[in-house]
Amino acid sequence: MLNLRRGNSTEGSNPSLSAFFICGGIVFVEPGEKVRVRFAPSPTGYLHVGGARTAIFNWLFAKKYGGNFLLRIEDTDAARSGEDMVAAILDGMSWLGLDWDDDVVFQSKRLEVYDEFVNQLIDCGRAYKCYCTKDEIEANRQLAKSENRDYRYNHDRRCNHLTQSEIQTYDKAEMPYAVRLLLPEGKTKFVDAVYGEITVEHSQLDDFIIRRSDGYPTYHLAVVVDDHEMQISHILRGDDHLSNTPKHIQIYHALGWDLPKYCHLPLILGKDKQRLSKRHGATAIGEYEKAGYLSVAMLNFLTLLGWSSGDDRELFSRDELVDTFSEKGIQKKSAVFDEKKLEWMNGQYLNALEQSEFYQLVTAQLLNTNAIDELFISKDSAYLRRMSELIQPRIKRLSEIGEMTGYFFKDPESYDQKALNKHWKAADQITRFEQIQQRLGTIALFSIEEIEAVIRGYAEELQVGAGKILQPLRLAVTGIAATPGMFEIMELLGKDTVLRRLQAAISYLKKNPVSSSTINAA
Ligand code: GLU
Repeated sequence: MLNLRRGNSTEGSNPSLSAFFICGGIVFVEPGEKVRVRFAPSPTGYLHVGGARTAIFNWLFAKKYGGNFLLRIEDTDAARSGEDMVAAILDGMSWLGLDWDDDVVFQSKRLEVYDEFVNQLIDCGRAYKCYCTKDEIEANRQLAKSENRDYRYNHDRRCNHLTQSEIQTYDKAEMPYAVRLLLPEGKTKFVDAVYGEITVEHSQLDDFIIRRSDGYPTYHLAVVVDDHEMQISHILRGDDHLSNTPKHIQIYHALGWDLPKYCHLPLILGKDKQRLSKRHGATAIGEYEKAGYLSVAMLNFLTLLGWSSGDDRELFSRDELVDTFSEKGIQKKSAVFDEKKLEWMNGQYLNALEQSEFYQLVTAQLLNTNAIDELFISKDSAYLRRMSELIQPRIKRLSEIGEMTGYFFKDPESYDQKALNKHWKAADQITRFEQIQQRLGTIALFSIEEIEAVIRGYAEELQVGAGKILQPLRLAVTGIAATPGMFEIMELLGKDTVLRRLQAAISYLKKNPVSSSTINAA
């Protein structure tokens, strides 16, 4: 584990430590500077929440400065990378509306370029071939352990001391070799936009491998070569890469290239404050799309993971995010992924949609799940529109639509058991339903006002609150415990349907009386 000394003026719990650092205030973007950033996922998994957040910050940053946002697929680990993963990453980015400039760069197509720079480093003496086998290295590691010493290859740099003729002999015999960067004495210092100045003593690093013995470049080499060749000006990435940055800087120095500026983004944690992982639930962006989240809500929610506008504001349209985002608002503190908050936010977006837009989403979802067909839409669009209006204020996820609207299409086949035990336990429940049925039956124009007058009048007669009548009625008419307003629902379903459903509830209760024993058993 590297010992990174980090600085921050605001978190000076250790004053002697904070004295090491220039605190805050690096000029991250010079006036007139050309901003070019990139998102560089490894396709060893789907686009996950952390990766998407990194992509969003880069995209917003590029937009803010009128720069370019590039996409690079880091697929040099052929065994672990998959085309389906690449497709899922591109789909996830498109769903979030993160458009990138230029063609996607695939590292697997650039192996010759990496070779060229590795060879250049060997030729100028900044890297060397290492013929040590894994077993030899492991044996040395074990020996160091048994002698209570740290193990590092550069303690003896065995292969860096080979003579030219030894190297020639090994190469003639086609002995496999890795290539290691020759690390100079000293330390690496850099300033990170979030973490401030960081210093790492080289005694803590090693002559790390830049090309493996299978001929593939390591991540460290490929990332530096590509960032240089793609003229990346700023690197915004997860802070799990903070400890890699000194190594990258050493490669930049060895190749004589200018450094980009760095900004490492805070970790994303689950609600238990542990690093977010599958254990916490869905982490792939595609799962959220399937679960009925709007992409703009997801974009808004992910942007707030580690960024703040400074005024506690939480809801932003896409354009507002572009206008408001600034790297200055990136927080150092780890961000907590709270799915309840995401759900709330999604609900806010769904509620705020134009009714016609929401109607389109509702019908698309119902068609998708075969709850309705095109014919139904063309015949009964007024019914569907009104239903969509009724559910819009209550919905949190599009995937709830099926379960929220079942009773608009079908009589209940069962009743929510918990609600039944709670709301149908009055000794005279059957009589109550019969009386309501009779009174509703006399209404000529089955309108909200008329229905409401009947129900409220009946509640007054019984000297009970309207809820005591409405809750049992809700269960009878819909089969579930929570729905939009009952007067509106009954008006839309129409008199015949409501009376038929009341009759079914009466029959059910006659066959299945809600006795105190069933209540207790529930
Ligand atoms: N490919 C790396 C990853 O997926 C990102 C590399 C970088 O941003 O420098 O974690």
